[in-house]
Amino acid sequence: CIKNLDHYFGRGQLRKQVLFDINLEINAGEIIIMTGPSGSGKTTLLTLVGGLRSAQSGSLQVLGQELCGAKAGQLTQARRSNGYIFQAHNLHGSLTALQNVRMGLELHKDISPSEMKTRSAQMLGEVGLEHRLNYYPDDLSGGQKQRVAIARALVSRPKIVLADEPTAALDSKSGRDVVNLMQKLAKEQGCTILLVTHDNRILDIGDRIIHMEDGKLVSDRAVVSVT
Ligand code: ATP
Repeated sequence: CIKNLDHYFGRGQLRKQVLFDINLEINAGEIIIMTGPSGSGKTTLLTLVGGLRSAQSGSLQVLGQELCGAKAGQLTQARRSNGYIFQAHNLHGSLTALQNVRMGLELHKDISPSEMKTRSAQMLGEVGLEHRLNYYPDDLSGGQKQRVAIARALVSRPKIVLADEPTAALDSKSGRDVVNLMQKLAKEQGCTILLVTHDNRILDIGDRIIHMEDGKLVSDRAVVSVT
């Protein structure tokens, strides 16, 4: 739940407001698509919800925790409930697909190494890459790399998945496959997705589309599926 959220970058004379009075309520299990021109504040909002930086003014409650003005330790704690998927997949080139997915469990110290390995392999199976466990990113296609990134984001069974332009580097068929997979796994796991995109072809996977302009949330509408 986001109320009257403002955000600024820089200090002193360079201080610049980039989010203006954002109000937004997201229900558990919803897929929210965020659109808007470059520089409109989409990524900033995503990083605040994800606990990647601290919100400064207003209220930002995620899973019942207030993140506005939160301390570093509280943000680290909040990040444990999240999975992240970025445009450029951000896989480690020197790690195999399996090792990359295991990174998604790094913050979960309570899971044993063998359990981590088993869960990572299972998750790669769920994204259809059971035969690619020991491949390095360079030996995988763009769509396969993004599927590894999805497996890494979902292996910890996060409550919230934050995705920033997950299809930007993919052709339309791979992009569609990747978002369909995200949608299917999210529904199975019951997690909420907040997805930033410029890709008009994937808007229909959302339950709601919110549109940002100049740091303001200018529209919030439900997606009506035509069947
Ligand atoms: P894009 O679609 O290009 O990714 P966006 O809608 O995600 O754009 P943001 O990246 O959130 O927009 O940027 C919003 C504004 O905040 C822009 O004016 C940008 O220049 C500024 N900004 C973003 N990150 C920083 C930062 N770390 N320091 C200073 N200004 C920043």
